[in-house]
Amino acid sequence: MSEHTTAKKYEFKAEVKKLLDILVHSLYTSREIFLRELISNASDALDKLRFESTRGAVIEDNDIKLEIKIEFDEKEKLLTIIDTGIGMTRDELIANIGTIAKSGTEEFVKMIEQTKSDANNIIGKFGVGFYSVFMVAKEVTIKTKSFQKDEPAIEWKSDGLGDYEISEFEGKITRGTTIEIHLKEDAGEFAEKWRLENIIKKHSNFISYPILLANEKINTVSAIWREPKSSIKDEQYNEFYKSLTYDNDDPMDVIHKSVDAPIQFNALLFIPKKSNELYFYDRENYGLDLYVRRVLIQHKNKDLLPEYLSFVKGVVDSEDLPLNISRETLQENVVFSKIASSVTSTVLAYLIEKVKNNQDNYIKFWKEHGKIFKLGYGDYANQEKYIELLRFNSSVCKDKEELISLTDYSSRMKEGQKDIYYITGANRESLLLDPHMEIFKNKGMEVLYLYDPIDEFVISSIRKYKDFEFKSAETVDSKKLDEIKNIEEKKSDFQDLSTDDEKHFFSLLAKMKSILSGRVEDVVKSTRLIDSAACVVSKDEGLSATMQKIMRMSNKDISLQKKIFEVNQNNKLIRNLIKVFKVDSNDDFIRTATEQLFESALLQEGSLDDPHNLVQRINQTLASSSDWYLTVKKID
Ligand code: ADP
Ligand code: MG
Repeated sequence: MSEHTTAKKYEFKAEVKKLLDILVHSLYTSREIFLRELISNASDALDKLRFESTRGAVIEDNDIKLEIKIEFDEKEKLLTIIDTGIGMTRDELIANIGTIAKSGTEEFVKMIEQTKSDANNIIGKFGVGFYSVFMVAKEVTIKTKSFQKDEPAIEWKSDGLGDYEISEFEGKITRGTTIEIHLKEDAGEFAEKWRLENIIKKHSNFISYPILLANEKINTVSAIWREPKSSIKDEQYNEFYKSLTYDNDDPMDVIHKSVDAPIQFNALLFIPKKSNELYFYDRENYGLDLYVRRVLIQHKNKDLLPEYLSFVKGVVDSEDLPLNISRETLQENVVFSKIASSVTSTVLAYLIEKVKNNQDNYIKFWKEHGKIFKLGYGDYANQEKYIELLRFNSSVCKDKEELISLTDYSSRMKEGQKDIYYITGANRESLLLDPHMEIFKNKGMEVLYLYDPIDEFVISSIRKYKDFEFKSAETVDSKKLDEIKNIEEKKSDFQDLSTDDEKHFFSLLAKMKSILSGRVEDVVKSTRLIDSAACVVSKDEGLSATMQKIMRMSNKDISLQKKIFEVNQNNKLIRNLIKVFKVDSNDDFIRTATEQLFESALLQEGSLDDPHNLVQRINQTLASSSDWYLTVKKID
């Protein structure tokens, strides 16, 4: 054993202690993933070494093989993991192992704390890193020697409780890192050969360096993305996907593509069955692994695909990029940009095919990943495909689950219809009752239902589908719809107003305007309403109510545009108000009814700030009508 000439104690950072506490005290079922984490670190260390080597760095022990060795001693409950990777200097050890390096680990802790989730259920999804070893270890020793010439070997030791000790390692050791794990009493299984083999096959089968267990290579070392499609079985794809993503499920789709000209690359891409959005804490954790001639250049490269396709996982490997390309200059590399745009069109073309082959499958895809996909409204280069892939619920759908494309919509447009109409709202139920929908129902015109605030951004940035512009059903000038025939001339329950009564109606509107003075732009006769008494409409075909709300959320100073209040003369309440008005134009009931109709209309479109007055008025009105009810029912 070594002599500790310069042993020095250090305390773990607070966030590390927190993580250790969770790992040690609340995790029992997923303990085996510690091995996945250590092997993945070893593999990263080997990748880094290979990367340094391709850059021409001078490397310690340059002739030793790049591999990972696992040794075990069942009797001593000792497990050792050895790699010939990049190693660590003393400073690196302190920086990398003493703090939480990876944001994913921090997110894991936050997630557990905030959601009070059962750590066992989610740990598999996260790379929790080196510390997971303390789920099974009572003591861990790291011996490591950097690839840099003349760096001394270092030993690190800890029981994972509060501090660790670092000293210079005096024994003989070649480049790389050895991790000795003294297993806890109840973790002896992790020093048994069959168990280790099983875990490695399950979680680390596609590590691109040999993993030797008792000198026997047990993983499949192959870059399957470079092999011909026909030679690969579904299970191999699935296994590779799982080892790449830590997902327990098979992928929904596999896209395997080889391109030779003009630029050579192989891409093996996957679409997961489930969206990761639930784990939105981990939002930054996306990207494709970029290889150049089988050498990993960058994990999770974020420029090969636009963010709206970030649900795609996988690897891209090219012969045509220089091996010594630096991550920093990738973006400016012309070959790289061409690969990136080709990868993007590959994914989009795949999705378009999916629509053609199986609508239902596409809808499944959309329901999982559509939320992210919608973010692609700014990808002008691929706008045509993007638009074709969008899905919406609409007034024609039989329920909220059904989805349509804009092609579907346009094929059903009415004669003379020039625009595509949409309406925003929280859910289908409220949109079905929305008074702005009445005129569209009456004409049998389809309206897109937008439930997600982002939908409106999508619509307003794509602006058009073919030659049809998008128009909000809430703000449309109803005269524009005059040309389009009603599906059936609905017999109104009301006789037309006499010329005299029509005059009174307009005076009533003027009265209402004075009651609502300062709060409305105007009060006008409605031609869009069929049943409802009143609604509010924006002055011009500008921002919808939802859009205005979003803008106000981000900037409190923007005041809502004053609305036009539209009143339907063919409505029982309004007809009665005309009668009251004729007798006494200052009757208090006119004021009450006007206030109530106005606030209800605001409430319905979601822009009523304070509902207290409205509620109080309803209650007073109910109280008065209960008197009337007693009279009618002859109760006293
Ligand atoms: P992550 O791998 O996500 O960065 P870990 O907690 O697994 O987080 O590891 C922390 C850091 O410790 C790594 O980023 C790496 O710098 C260093 N490290 C861990 N294991 C090794 C190893 N076997 N060889 C070299 N460095 C390592
Ligand atoms: Mg790691």
